[in-house]
Amino acid sequence: MNENKYARRNFLQKYLKMVYLVAGSGFILNLKSNASVTEWKKMSASKKQPTKKIVPQGDPENPCDDLSKVSADEISKRKKLAYVSQSPVENNQCRNCNLFIPAPDKPCGACLLFKGPVSPEGHCAYWAPINE
Ligand code: SF4
Repeated sequence: MNENKYARRNFLQKYLKMVYLVAGSGFILNLKSNASVTEWKKMSASKKQPTKKIVPQGDPENPCDDLSKVSADEISKRKKLAYVSQSPVENNQCRNCNLFIPAPDKPCGACLLFKGPVSPEGHCAYWAPINE
């Protein structure tokens, strides 16, 4: 009878230890998973890039540099083509480029490659001489 009593006590002690172990490890795992979720949120928040606002550049007095009505995509195209409103290359200006669209009686023309005002004195990487 005593052996049976001790056996039951041993069994209960082992059973309670197992319950504490399982509950404790579950609690630790839960803390770790919460910590990893928090870390993941921090990492993803730090990876988010602030949206770039493209600010029109150039001379604010020059109407051909006014890009306030030009979309961000078109401004991006200008940048990719390295468009500048003052050509650094003598005799290679938008006014004598094959892709320039002159606007009579207006200070700015246009270009076949992108939308928005183009200075006749401008230039870009796609400058092409007028075919005669
Ligand atoms: S292709 Fe370049 S150089 Fe020619 S008109 Fe357009 S922006 Fe000016």
